[in-house]
Amino acid sequence: DIELAIKVVIVGNGGVGKSSMIQRYCKGIFTKDYKKTIGVDFLERQIEIDGEDVRIMLWDTAGQEEFDCITKAYYRGAQASVLVFSTTDRASFEAIKDWKRKVENECNEIPTVIVQNKIDLIEQAVVTADEVETLAKMLNCRLIRTSVKEDINVASVFRYLATKCHQL
Ligand code: GDP
Ligand code: MG
Repeated sequence: DIELAIKVVIVGNGGVGKSSMIQRYCKGIFTKDYKKTIGVDFLERQIEIDGEDVRIMLWDTAGQEEFDCITKAYYRGAQASVLVFSTTDRASFEAIKDWKRKVENECNEIPTVIVQNKIDLIEQAVVTADEVETLAKMLNCRLIRTSVKEDINVASVFRYLATKCHQL
């Protein structure tokens, strides 16, 4: 039986790969044109942490992030958060500190990971490794670089957060 269920919110500018990440982690699929699903609240996956079953519930936004109108209900009860930006989108990187502040306003201090997604497109990077690491340090968050497309490091994001929550 489930010992712990964790609600994880995933925020970041539109187009950085949030919905793709949830699909990848919970369903094991990647599609190039993942349709924005309106009405789907969350997907979940069960993993084992220290021999205990943990249910991870990943809450998606249905594109509201592009209009800066994510509701309080989206954040309510979240125990962990993922702040995502894209390797090829400078504005999404610069928005990370604002996303951090929004999560903090709604959820106080919860375990948080900064995800640099689309690392498969590193040749087209518009951010340097240095400035990403500096930002992560400044915001006091773990940094994980992922490629949802190539399935690199996606599971580590949620394993890290689940382990953190399990220790609390
Ligand atoms: P969201 O708006 O943050 O939910 O982003 P989506 O999940 O809709 O993804 C936006 C686009 O980026 C889609 O075309 C995805 O297929 C693509 N995408 C997502 N993750 C990756 C990745 O790791 N690498 C590459 N090359 N494309 C990705
Ligand atoms: Mg989306």
